[in-house]
Amino acid sequence: MIPGARLVMLGRQGAGKGTQCIRLSHHYVVPHISTGDILRAAVREQTEFGLKAKAFMQEGNLLPDDVILGIINERLERDDTRTRGFILDGFPRTVGQATTLMEITAPRCIDLVVDLVVPTEVVLARLAGRRVCTDCGANYSVERPPKFGWVCDSCRGDVVQRADDTTEAIERRLAIYERETAPLTAWFTERDLLATVDGLGDPDEVSARLFSVIDQRREQHR
Ligand code: ADP
Repeated sequence: MIPGARLVMLGRQGAGKGTQCIRLSHHYVVPHISTGDILRAAVREQTEFGLKAKAFMQEGNLLPDDVILGIINERLERDDTRTRGFILDGFPRTVGQATTLMEITAPRCIDLVVDLVVPTEVVLARLAGRRVCTDCGANYSVERPPKFGWVCDSCRGDVVQRADDTTEAIERRLAIYERETAPLTAWFTERDLLATVDGLGDPDEVSARLFSVIDQRREQHR
């Protein structure tokens, strides 16, 4: 049996976290937990909570920590994460969220935090052309569209531009990333949990780099 994994993916907007987390999730047979995807589903379903979340998201602001922590707590309690582990995408984004993550996952905590690094000028170009499946969250772009029309290759969902991929919201999200989330790389390094991976190049090459650092870590901790 493939052993499970407990992973966190950090990286700026447009670094390729979503694409790579889906691949990691298939490779290690571990659920991909994307807070952005969970929130977008709530917005689509127009629940009371979804309507509140929408305002924060469209402006590119973070939701309050207690709201996100409620979502994560509930998701980490399900059977699949209990047995297989998790790949967290979009969480934690603040030192407060990271501290709580360590508490709620103790004593096993996490195997590894990967920082997927891509320079700002590259992410800006990627975000401008990014298109996303509204159902499964798969990422496409104007250069790499789905095979048939704007319909997802994997689940046949609609592939669209995200409501928060506007110039203003992108700038705000990147600024918040630098201020709130980038300090987490030092925070996880101090806890000997961080690996840095170059996110430039072909998606298959980036996946190979990720598999390599994760497998290395698993070997060390066997
Ligand atoms: P991106 O990384 O491109 O900003 P995500 O899909 O990860 O996009 O998240 C979209 C939005 O959802 C964020 O801009 C924010 O409003 C909200 N969100 C997602 N994760 C968190 C989190 N951990 N804490 C607070 N807000 C979050």
